[in-house]
Amino acid sequence: MSTPPNLANTTHHAACNVVVIGAGAIGAAATYALARRGERVLLLEQEQVGHPFGSSHGGSRIFRYTHPTSAEASLMPAMAALWRELEAESNEQLLDMCGGLFIARPGDPFLADATAVLDGLAMPYERLDAAAMAIRYPQFRLHDDEFALFQPRSGILAASRSVAAMVRCAQRAGAILRTGCRVQSITPHTAGVTLTINDHGVAQTISAERVVIAAGPWARRLLEPLLTTRLPLKVTHQQVAYYRAGDIERWSSRRAPIYIFSNEPHVYGFPIFERPGYVKVALELLDTEVDPNAPRSVRQPEIDALSATVAARLTGIDPTPVSVDLCLYTETPDRAFIIDRHPEHPNIVFAAGMSGRGFKFAIGLGQLLAHLASTPAGAYDHPFWRPQFALQNHALGAPAPTFAPRDI
Ligand SMILES: Cc1cc2nc3c(=O)[nH]c(=O)nc-3n(C[C@H](O)[C@H](O)[C@H](O)COP(=O)(O)OP(=O)(O)OC[C@H]3O[C@@H](n4cnc5c(N)ncnc54)[C@H](O)[C@@H]3O)c2cc1C
Repeated sequence: MSTPPNLANTTHHAACNVVVIGAGAIGAAATYALARRGERVLLLEQEQVGHPFGSSHGGSRIFRYTHPTSAEASLMPAMAALWRELEAESNEQLLDMCGGLFIARPGDPFLADATAVLDGLAMPYERLDAAAMAIRYPQFRLHDDEFALFQPRSGILAASRSVAAMVRCAQRAGAILRTGCRVQSITPHTAGVTLTINDHGVAQTISAERVVIAAGPWARRLLEPLLTTRLPLKVTHQQVAYYRAGDIERWSSRRAPIYIFSNEPHVYGFPIFERPGYVKVALELLDTEVDPNAPRSVRQPEIDALSATVAARLTGIDPTPVSVDLCLYTETPDRAFIIDRHPEHPNIVFAAGMSGRGFKFAIGLGQLLAHLASTPAGAYDHPFWRPQFALQNHALGAPAPTFAPRDI
């Protein structure tokens, strides 16, 4: 039997002037921003929106103002406002500002930088010693020499629902979504770009003036054939575990904030948010490089280590996980994002290396990508542009700044 021609798709791509590749947080945000600018935008996703094989799925991501540089922390008020705007437009509650704790020992270098940044930007925070924590947040067990920095403007973003809301609002503004469409290649030419795609097994060609590449863990596959350098991107296996809360009120987001433990390397977690009665806790994995196309499974030793931390450091939680979800990070050596135009083909714009911390910025980075795709080469005048995003800072072989694993 012959495959029926994809007539609807032919009509759609003939009319679009910008193609966005990837319907994760970044591509969804770029599509939303482009559609709101009046661009005719086509969003191509190789899977379905909300699929569990990339980086943006799941119920929750940390939103916080504690960053080691003011370049990024200074973006946060605008990010919060944009997420609130999306909530209003989509009629969904997406951001729960439950506050956030960073638990560390005095002299912790990340926290020293982050505190200086909060001071510089006049953003509020409180320092709570172990005794004060025991009274105010008895959900956590601190060592006597530890303290916590509480930052009230931290919280939880509903991850998959936020992506779905951005896609929905973009579609309402005229964007076209095609799922099950894998972009195989991108060829720049004088009038724009030609994409070859695989649409549910059918090869097609699409032409557009401009393309925004937001392919997450698959970024190297699409970008490197277009560049003369390799990108310093490492895709790592990540896993998050759910544990049953004994005292549901104590672990509700009204009473418990999000938290990051500095001395339990790379453990962070959430109050009850996405699954009634259960909290999500994770141990970030740093040396678990994987091929994003290869099958993955739970790494049990790291879950056991996480459960031991849950037992030791959290109160009122049954330390036996009830389920584990898998996810991928796409890391640059210092967790800085790569966002730029192609050096020779400025109608190709991309974001890559969103690492374990990109979600909170996604809604604003979508606006930045839309701006880069809509303004002439050399123009870097958007308020969300930061010079460290530039591709030239990320060529392989450039000196790698310190890796910042606690910047979730
Ligand atoms: C476990 C975990 C916890 C995290 N915690 C936080 C947190 O607390 N706070 C925070 O801010 N951030 C956090 N992050 C990071 C954040 O979620 C990511 O930075 C962000 O979701 C990356 O989005 P993305 O759009 O770049 O990638 P993705 O979500 O992976 O999207 C890329 C999309 O492109 C599609 N695609 C790729 N290639 C093609 C192609 N050739 N054709 C068509 N489609 C294609 C993919 O299918 C995918 O849907 C976390 C990430 C993980 C995994």
